[in-house]
Amino acid sequence: MNKLARIISNSNSIAITSHIDPDGDSIGSMLALWSALRQKCRNVEAFIDDVLPRKYDFLPQSKYVKKYKDVEGKDFDLFFALDCGNKARLGHGAEAMENSKIVVNIDHHISNTEFGDINIIDINSSSTCEMIYSIIKDMGLIIDKQIATCIYVGIVTDSGNFMYDNVTEKTHLIVADLMKTDIAKQDIIYNLYQKKSINSLRFLGYSLTNMDVELGGRLAIFQISSDLLKKFNIPGDDVESLVNYGRDIEGIDIAVTMMEKGDNKVKLSFRSKHDDIDVRALAQLFNGGGHKKASGAMLNSTLDEARNQVIEKAKQFVRR
Ligand code: 5GP
Ligand code: MN
Repeated sequence: MNKLARIISNSNSIAITSHIDPDGDSIGSMLALWSALRQKCRNVEAFIDDVLPRKYDFLPQSKYVKKYKDVEGKDFDLFFALDCGNKARLGHGAEAMENSKIVVNIDHHISNTEFGDINIIDINSSSTCEMIYSIIKDMGLIIDKQIATCIYVGIVTDSGNFMYDNVTEKTHLIVADLMKTDIAKQDIIYNLYQKKSINSLRFLGYSLTNMDVELGGRLAIFQISSDLLKKFNIPGDDVESLVNYGRDIEGIDIAVTMMEKGDNKVKLSFRSKHDDIDVRALAQLFNGGGHKKASGAMLNSTLDEARNQVIEKAKQFVRR
């Protein structure tokens, strides 16, 4: 931590980025670190090679997040990659990383490839935000209400509302400390969970009705075509939580969402709920990664090809 503090002090330009398909933890950690480092260095930029889902617009710092094209060609003294298991997850951000002098990789994914010059990886952490909390504190920087809000968003969303394995006493102690800054908890919950569109709920109903169950009732499959998203007129991030409904069915060991992403690409999202069902290992068969009970991958294939491959590979992962 001393080394990191020294590097930060010696850096005149700092970039912070996170993964494509941004979620609460990637956005929360990026914005929290951005705000905190601005206490020390004016030349700090947060950028991402994707569109921020609108539901995070309520975070006041989100309007300062730049696009990759805004930083293209710049050289940074210091580059932070947050919540990102590998370089590919940075999208074009990986190119900006190559132009930087020192890369710091901060993450909690077991599949992290340690691509940084400095790698701070804690697979027991509920979220990257939990790690960012400790880093900000250790550097003696202040966690104000705005920073606390970002960290809280990351912890709440990445822990499945405090449901998942890596929620520890430390997680709750951190949240207790965040709450001392008087964060607007109800307002955060409203923004994250209670302003869904009617269309997204209709889409949920449709998807549950058309859910497919394979492998003797052990594998739940949601197949989402681009046409379906168009029909319901919803953004891709409204699909994010669908897979959890499949996971939560009694007898289902693995749930998967396969979402068409244009030009012959399919995004896979896997979930499990049992300690002996490791969907990270399953995702790795598709060159993806993540956590034991939540993982993902990107395939170059049609939806039907993806479906066949997933059923074939999932056979050896479900319980007999
Ligand atoms: P989600 O299904 O919510 O998109 O992702 C679940 C978990 O899997 C997250 O922790 C995420 O970082 C990881 N993940 C999702 N997609 C990919 C991917 O394409 N590659 C890798 N390495 N990890 C992924
Ligand atoms: Mn995360």
